[in-house]
Amino acid sequence: MVSTPVRDAAPGLATDEDGRPYANGFRPAVLEWDGWTCADCIVCGTGTQCADCQACTDFAFPYPPHWARPWAEGEPERGIELFGGPGGMSAGRGLVDDGGDWVLIEWNRDAAATARAAGHWVVEADVRTLDPRHPALRGVSRVHGSPPCQTLSGAGKRAGWNADEVAQLQSIMWQASEAFGFLEVDDLCSLYGGPHGYFGDVLDGMEDHPDADGWGEFCGGGHLPPCMTPADFRKWAASVVSDDRTALMAEMLIWPMCLVQIGAPLVSITMEQSANLLKQSPALAEAIQSEITSVEGFGWAWCSWQVADAADFGAATHRERAWMVATRYGWPRYADQVDGDKAAREMWAHVLKRTGRLPDWTPELDRRIEPYQGRPALPKVTVATALNLPADWWADTRGKRGINPETGKPMGGGSFPLNDVGQCVTAPWYGIKFRPAHVPQGEGTNTITAPELGALVGFRRDYPWTYIPTRKGARGVRNIAQMIADAVSPFMGAAVSSAVQGEDWYEPVATYQATLYRLDDQAADTERPALPAPRTEDRAIEQLELFPAA
Ligand SMILES: [Zn+2]
Ligand SMILES: [Zn+2]
Ligand SMILES: [Zn+2]
Repeated sequence: MVSTPVRDAAPGLATDEDGRPYANGFRPAVLEWDGWTCADCIVCGTGTQCADCQACTDFAFPYPPHWARPWAEGEPERGIELFGGPGGMSAGRGLVDDGGDWVLIEWNRDAAATARAAGHWVVEADVRTLDPRHPALRGVSRVHGSPPCQTLSGAGKRAGWNADEVAQLQSIMWQASEAFGFLEVDDLCSLYGGPHGYFGDVLDGMEDHPDADGWGEFCGGGHLPPCMTPADFRKWAASVVSDDRTALMAEMLIWPMCLVQIGAPLVSITMEQSANLLKQSPALAEAIQSEITSVEGFGWAWCSWQVADAADFGAATHRERAWMVATRYGWPRYADQVDGDKAAREMWAHVLKRTGRLPDWTPELDRRIEPYQGRPALPKVTVATALNLPADWWADTRGKRGINPETGKPMGGGSFPLNDVGQCVTAPWYGIKFRPAHVPQGEGTNTITAPELGALVGFRRDYPWTYIPTRKGARGVRNIAQMIADAVSPFMGAAVSSAVQGEDWYEPVATYQATLYRLDDQAADTERPALPAPRTEDRAIEQLELFPAA
């Protein structure tokens, strides 16, 4: 961390709720901090903005300079988005709550550049190199995370759900609340030399202590002080998995718990993950849920898990993801209680069928959010409607396929009619070709642009997709398509954000959907839209022109 101005006197040792210092000189409060904030800043005291003040900028780094100022009631809520990607969740959140003050953490430089171009403050870093006990984070009240799901995706090597690794990571995650200072015990006196263990029993060899049979000066229940740093916990989590991306799941406990540890007014956590996390590795979802809601842990009021499809909330393509919503006080907006056993039997039907029983460890599914609350579903939008193409056309995601001699069918598939909601957009869609039904598969000449691909997921057409060339002339067509494929759908982002903050999602999202997909224009159009002209016959040039915004 950069150096901060030195104060005359160090602030007193951190104390627990009863005013007792933590044991062994442990200072759980904030990492390497002498208590200085913008409130003490001589430069800002004269009316200078934090952004123009070196001391505040250095103190808050890498977060926005004005985060050097303690957050005050009535100011925009501060939020941290882990794995923010190109800003899909933020775009959704912005539809229901444009008053927030968020920082996105993202390691991929193209995604970070895109999010920056979209107006976000982005910390371009591996989240594991950041310490959530940074003093500038004491004003954070919301966390969202979309951990990368390569190891959990159906197409991956499945390392993400190696049963043994998942079990080990689960048991480590169960200990997050103890590691970060949220385990409540009957008696803390042994930490101060007293005779009692955490459950009030007399420790071996302390039977003759004057307080052994009674209640002494140092006796009292409370939270065990934190016993691990985020770095230690990360190392521990990474040590049991073969692909350390799997261990990134632990960040969804490390950040919220360390933020609360330093006094941040955190009130909600949301999370997006591969649907396979819930379906194939429910033990990790269970560990997160139990740590968040357990009275022996974080003790929050609500933590729900569910699978939801962006196509059910306005998107023109499917995007089935696992979503978690957690709230500290009270229930979220749209809270819904359902039959948990029935939900479990549906969620893990594939396991039930194979083994005759449900997985050993699963999160409770008896609660979820139901953003519609009985209102009519938003219109289903077909790919043809979204891209203003004739409804009887087809798309080929790959070139011409050969015929499998054994089955007599085309190999590799990859074609779909436009008159339907699209499948989940994947990176290879950058090479998609549209064609009338009578044109043979693979011989279409109409291509797709980055704005169109983004729109299919739910991004506005002028979203600033950005690619930083790694070599001269590179256009990053595939990189941008990958970014779009990995993003949170803004439609889903809006519905889920609305569960914890801002206004009701329904009207703003219905308006956004109608504008994005030009639903009103098309409804008014009685004539079929004009056929788009083929761009070029030359594949090489086509590649350069595919994504003009790139
Ligand atoms: Zn200042
Ligand atoms: Zn300042
Ligand atoms: Zn005691």
